[in-house]
Amino acid sequence: MSPESDPRPESTLTRLLHADRRAGVEQGAVHKPMHPAATFSYRTAAELVAVFQGRQPGYVYARQGNPTGAALEAKLALMEGARACAVFATGMAAIGGLMLALLRGGDHMVASRHLFGNTPSLLGTLAGFGLEVTYVDAADAANVAAALRPNTRLVFTETVANPGTQVADLAGIGALCRERGLVYVVDNTMTTPELFRPRDVGASLIVHSLTKGIAGHGHAMGGAVVDTGLYDWSTYPNIAEAYRQGDPVGWGLVQIRKKGLRDFGATLRAEDAHRIATGAETLGLRMQAACANALGLAQWLQAQPQVARVHYPGLGSHPQHERARALFGGRYGALLSFELQPGLDTLAMLDRLQVAILSSHLSDTRTLAIPVAQTIFWEMGPQRRAEMGIADGLVRVSVGIEPLADLQADFARALKG
Ligand SMILES: *Cc1c(COP(=O)(O)O)cnc(C)c1O
Repeated sequence: MSPESDPRPESTLTRLLHADRRAGVEQGAVHKPMHPAATFSYRTAAELVAVFQGRQPGYVYARQGNPTGAALEAKLALMEGARACAVFATGMAAIGGLMLALLRGGDHMVASRHLFGNTPSLLGTLAGFGLEVTYVDAADAANVAAALRPNTRLVFTETVANPGTQVADLAGIGALCRERGLVYVVDNTMTTPELFRPRDVGASLIVHSLTKGIAGHGHAMGGAVVDTGLYDWSTYPNIAEAYRQGDPVGWGLVQIRKKGLRDFGATLRAEDAHRIATGAETLGLRMQAACANALGLAQWLQAQPQVARVHYPGLGSHPQHERARALFGGRYGALLSFELQPGLDTLAMLDRLQVAILSSHLSDTRTLAIPVAQTIFWEMGPQRRAEMGIADGLVRVSVGIEPLADLQADFARALKG
């Protein structure tokens, strides 16, 4: 019965509450609209059941995903030349969701010794549940090969390590993982698909902190797990019976969505999905400017008498310079680090910066600088820092898109004292 013919017409409040849903919400907007709704409605019970059972596409409850996030997932899969993607509330939620969904107590994984600091912290927590982790120098695939065990399930590395800028043997590890049937996970946060697509070296899964370069403006947090489609999940022992449905190429990401995203609930908010998608539109332009700036600043810093050492893959002196050139299309990223000559006061130098911001973030439009040993690598203690080659005076710089002349002038002022 329509409201008009109903002897008791619907109240204004009821009509207000249902107005958006009945009118349709897309309106031809040039951005995917933000869908902050926590739940989604269906006209018939049969439809609701079909969506729940995965026989019809749709959304049921927003912890498991919403249309704004799904639009971003499609864009990220496109950018990575990959099959599919699941987005999370943060980069750490994506890494945690992936690990918790795919690994069991008694499994072994091999990880790069040079990882974003919170990742080994998370792996330490999982070790408490029986996960075995071996850390290796991932700059040589032979170190990964030597660490493999019969129960090794997964190999995890970043592309360019933070803050030391070591470049992993990405192709060599890819060949090894393919040969041994191992899940190969590459954290592509520092390079972004603009410089490097891990699928090209055989990665099974790609993780991103979307908070960094892809969002790009320090105004949103997010993470992603991207499935390249290269791994045959029918050979992976930890896929639950319930997710061994249909084409095996999809099983891994389905389990990550169900066990890692749905059950832990670190869901990306629609507002942040929108901001990240907007940021992604200018990733190429921003990376072009930031990489050119970083190379210029690294070369300039290297020539300054107060500077003892500069770490940047674009410098000929960098141990993996040739590898970086071959893998990243002649660009070397926006991250560099440097050490002052012994006896110079690093913190006082940082205090004199007027353009670069003292901040722990990375890959922003603005240049950011931080003393590493006293902040982001403080918790792990001096011994672990020494093992990772992190000197007490190391300064990390995430280079932004300001004109290079302004950045050089800023660092010149800071170095002079
Ligand atoms: C920042 C970062 C993460 C974690 O991402 P969040 O969005 O901060 O949770 C993971 N990996 C790398 C390489 C990062 O730089």
